[in-house]
Amino acid sequence: MSIRSVNPRTGEEFGPIFESATKREIDAIIDGAVTSYSLWSRTTPKERARILNFLAESIDANLDVLVAIADLETGLGVGRLTGEVSRTTFQIRTFANALARGEFVGSRLDAAVDAPLPEGHPKLLRTARAIGPVAIFGASNFPFAFSVLGGDTASALAAGCSVLIKAHPAHPQTSQLTFDIAKRALSDAGAPANLIGLGHGFEFGSFVITDSRIAAGAFTGSRAGGRALFDLAQSRQIPIPFYGELGSVNPVVATASGISDRALFAGSYLDSLLLGNGQFCTNPSLLFVPDDESLLADVKSQLSHREAQPFLSEATKKLHDANRQKLAQSLGSTDYFGKNGEGLGFYSRAEVFVIPASVAIKYPEILHIECFGPTGIVTTYSSIEEVKETLSTLEGALVGSLFSSVDDESNVEIASALASMCGRVAFNAWPTGVAVTDGQHHGGPYPASTSPLHTSVGINAITRFLRPITFQGFPDEMASKLGI
Ligand code: NAP
Repeated sequence: MSIRSVNPRTGEEFGPIFESATKREIDAIIDGAVTSYSLWSRTTPKERARILNFLAESIDANLDVLVAIADLETGLGVGRLTGEVSRTTFQIRTFANALARGEFVGSRLDAAVDAPLPEGHPKLLRTARAIGPVAIFGASNFPFAFSVLGGDTASALAAGCSVLIKAHPAHPQTSQLTFDIAKRALSDAGAPANLIGLGHGFEFGSFVITDSRIAAGAFTGSRAGGRALFDLAQSRQIPIPFYGELGSVNPVVATASGISDRALFAGSYLDSLLLGNGQFCTNPSLLFVPDDESLLADVKSQLSHREAQPFLSEATKKLHDANRQKLAQSLGSTDYFGKNGEGLGFYSRAEVFVIPASVAIKYPEILHIECFGPTGIVTTYSSIEEVKETLSTLEGALVGSLFSSVDDESNVEIASALASMCGRVAFNAWPTGVAVTDGQHHGGPYPASTSPLHTSVGINAITRFLRPITFQGFPDEMASKLGI
């Protein structure tokens, strides 16, 4: 199969044709990853930090050319994409800095205790080592931060793993260019050859995830795709960890005390909902508000002025439109909508469904649909009990938000209900925007993530690729020879 870029603003194909990698080519890429892993995993954290910093510099030096091609392929806009490249190199540098400080070696030493059991024990050194070559799948909506050199690649490289990356067909040129720049930089910095590998084509994914030489998978994308690859990873003769960050329906609950200015609240809701044309995994998909006609009037009038934005691809638009149709079949068509899309490309107007909580409770399976694009649901409630009951019908989510005054009596109940189903709970903040920091958790109960114990954003993402191991009773001179 051949893959070619499509400009989502016009629907026109452009640029070179990328052929799907053949089995023989994929085999060679995996071989390269195995050899480079054996060398890279033995480098010191300081050496990896130096090389990762060099890699980040080379990406920053090519910012303009990377953003220009990504904008043509995704329609996300130069401003947003420039910020995303900065976030990407920030992530790489964050891992480099942590390595340079000697973090993530993760060692813990228990000196031998000469006593009867259970207190007595030999000397135990618990440490961690890079798990092996990692297969990485990025998402269409983050052509940099969750793509070729995104957080998964950065954390796997920092851990000492080699990586094999599937190029996303919605941004094949951005993927290839990022890869070419990175490969050159890694080579110039003295990293082992073939530390990173790239393949185009659908089959690349299932081929690498089922290959016995691959030790782990990291995925950002749809529930359907992530689940299919997760199942493949688990059905291997030797199953492997598969860290899937999937789509999510994110609940936001606002109490009357959390909405001091209705117009402002309505505007900030729409800003968050329609950010990147609603193509954010952290989008405020399901908003609960008190039954308040003037707030709803503000949402309706402000939405009517919002311009349609391009989808990332024709496939994304088709899936979104089909899911929105499913919502309309159960919830009824809505008269809250934005301006119609112009031009030849992939556009749909924004729409918001407004339903009472008593109706929402009847359609739990409809509320589980991630309508990835410019569609939201506003649920009006008359009691906190209704909110809690509706929340209890939802599936795991990446993030939930609570808008409320600090002394509102319902705060704790709502925050606890959100905490029971979300990987992150935000207070008086919209769910979009994920800081890259130590305190971050980006994941959550399934289907937000296939591994609710791990995060894909922030420093702790590295633990996904470090296998714990304990050395028992090793004398110091042997430990230093083993590099532990
Ligand atoms: P996608 O369609 O699942 O694609 C992601 C990657 O997986 C692509 O390379 C795709 O290859 C591959 N893939 C999909 N199904 C596969 C299968 N059955 N077997 C093998 N490979 C398969 O997702 P997307 O449209 O790019 O991204 C949008 C989704 O990502 C949304 O649901 C969004 O919420 C989610 N997302 C989540 C996060 C997060 O952090 N949790 C962040 C961003 C986005 P092909 O395209 O070649 O099929």
